[in-house]
Amino acid sequence: RPAITRPQRTRVMVVANQKGGVGKTTSTVNLAAALAQLGQRVLVIDLDPQGNASTALNIEHRRGVPSTYDLLVNEDKLADVMQPCPDQAGLWVVPATIDLAGAEIELVSIVARESRLQKAIYAHEWVGTAAEAGDDRFDYVIIDCPPSLGLLTLNALVAGAEMVIPIQAEYYALEGLGMLLETVEMVKKHLNQNLDVSTILLTMYDARTRLASNVAEEVREHFGDTVLKTYIPRSVRVSEAPSYSQTVMTYDPGSPGALSYLEAAREMARKGEQR
Ligand code: ADP
Ligand code: MG
Repeated sequence: RPAITRPQRTRVMVVANQKGGVGKTTSTVNLAAALAQLGQRVLVIDLDPQGNASTALNIEHRRGVPSTYDLLVNEDKLADVMQPCPDQAGLWVVPATIDLAGAEIELVSIVARESRLQKAIYAHEWVGTAAEAGDDRFDYVIIDCPPSLGLLTLNALVAGAEMVIPIQAEYYALEGLGMLLETVEMVKKHLNQNLDVSTILLTMYDARTRLASNVAEEVREHFGDTVLKTYIPRSVRVSEAPSYSQTVMTYDPGSPGALSYLEAAREMARKGEQR
């Protein structure tokens, strides 16, 4: 099948849900790797102090490595903190170190504290339209958020134009979404009118259960076409990959998890063309 077309401008996508364990990090790294495999130029920004996205992308994130913390607190340039992913061409990563845990508090007393990330991203020469940034431009910047709605996530929502919400196809799937959407409305009103919930991705879908299809139906009733048709199946291969510092896209490219992330990436690209 043909490679996908590049978007006309960098799509800055924020993967957020204040609920932990819904598949934010897994979706960030695998969608990013899938898009890169499809010929896109992709930057992942790890905004979770746990650094799980950095681990999965095989990027060192011990203390002292230039990181998202330096971007936000020390105003380092994006070019000075990003690294190429060693296992995937076309993919770059800003790792998160444990220092980032303190940033949530350190940022409180800083001027324009919620727009630090936005500034850092848009200052980079590879971010923008084809005319501005040329062929070297990033097609996607994907931001992996921590499981909270604090200043780190707020920075991502101010920086991003599109929000991706992973929803685990489980009991209580919709719990907490009201609060998340209220936060989005607040940000739209006061800080970033461009923000749009563009994508909802059903993760850890167990096709054998009635529950999963009920949840999927309920989510589609609420969110309509925002929900990707592709869902991500629950698969051991997906959860094993990070312990080998890999995404499932390289760990087991033919597995159902990898194929579904590839399909989800294609769907995201197609939907982007219609925006
Ligand atoms: P979050 O970033 O939202 O906290 P993670 O992406 O870390 O969530 O996922 C939570 C856990 O679920 C991890 O252990 C991860 O490996 C596992 N997981 C995520 N997606 C899948 C999947 N499709 N199949 C099986 N396990 C998954
Ligand atoms: Mg995570």
